[in-house]
Amino acid sequence: MAMPKTVKCPRCGQDGEWTGNPFRPFCSERCKMADLGGWFSEEYRIASDTKPVEEDEDE
Ligand SMILES: [Zn+2]
Repeated sequence: MAMPKTVKCPRCGQDGEWTGNPFRPFCSERCKMADLGGWFSEEYRIASDTKPVEEDEDE
């Protein structure tokens, strides 16, 4: 089986290292953080839009 030693970064499209790369499938920490950041901001938007009612058990 021929395993590729590089993986195409889904963020920037560049070839990033796969073996020993803690940021895979991204090429670098920058791309990983950028992707996570976008995901989190999207999640935050949804979360703030449908804010769950806080249960007040202080009675
Ligand atoms: Zn990248």
